[in-house]
Amino acid sequence: MPELPEVETIARQLRGLVVDRTISEFESRWVRLTEPEPAEVVGARLRGRRISDVRRRGKFVVFDLDGGEALVVSLRMTGKLLYGAADVDERYVRGEIRFEDGTALRFSDTRKFGRMAVIDAATLDRRGALPPGPRSRRPLHASLGQEPLARGFTVTWLRALVRRRPRAAIKVLLLDQRAIAGIGNIYAIEALWRAQIHPLRKAGSLRADEIARLHEAIRWALRKGIRLGGASPSDYVDARGNKGRMQREFQVYSRAGEPCPRCGRAIVRTVVGGRGTFHCPRCQRTPRA
Ligand SMILES: [Zn+2]
Repeated sequence: MPELPEVETIARQLRGLVVDRTISEFESRWVRLTEPEPAEVVGARLRGRRISDVRRRGKFVVFDLDGGEALVVSLRMTGKLLYGAADVDERYVRGEIRFEDGTALRFSDTRKFGRMAVIDAATLDRRGALPPGPRSRRPLHASLGQEPLARGFTVTWLRALVRRRPRAAIKVLLLDQRAIAGIGNIYAIEALWRAQIHPLRKAGSLRADEIARLHEAIRWALRKGIRLGGASPSDYVDARGNKGRMQREFQVYSRAGEPCPRCGRAIVRTVVGGRGTFHCPRCQRTPRA
């Protein structure tokens, strides 16, 4: 599943490919692609609009449109945004954005969990703001947390977060998109290994030096992912259809039984919050019950 580095890679590539192009047509080939809005409504809002920028917010690809709205794309498990002549299997194309110059951006998604929405762009910049109402009914992009590569993500900020959520397992907290936006399973695992923190440690039990290490480790893992064009353990490809290289550089993710790169002890796989997790039993000590 694409996380911050993968989505950042796609957004940077698309910025060079589709900015200043004007949308002539939007076609949906999957009834749930734009839910709860009908595809015709989304199409009407996209038609004639010029793309002024492409960026990332959390794990969403954001196409800023002239006029203050934005097209937000959630890739979820297997979504791919492919521009131009990239090799696409037509069976999995769920949506297509055609431009006035005759080129097109296609959304391919084998598992069909990906979604598209046209929203007021200002919604995305409200950090972690939680409007009233039940959480489950609000779209995720309406309440995204702090960007971990932004200037506002400081050691002080992270310390305040763990104080607000002291009982949460640290790995579960790192994956909460309403707290920090963009970290997923892979980069949480890699960051906790680098910071030498067990994934099940209660956030409130982290010492000041551990919080500082974790802050550094989160940025290290994400920046490394971006530098390597993202990770392709299975489906991920960038906007040109190429795989990333981060999967060759994992320290512990998907390396159960292999030696820890720091101490040589065999990496262990466990399940935390329903997600497969990898850690070194020597470098990342199990918390006392
Ligand atoms: Zn180790």
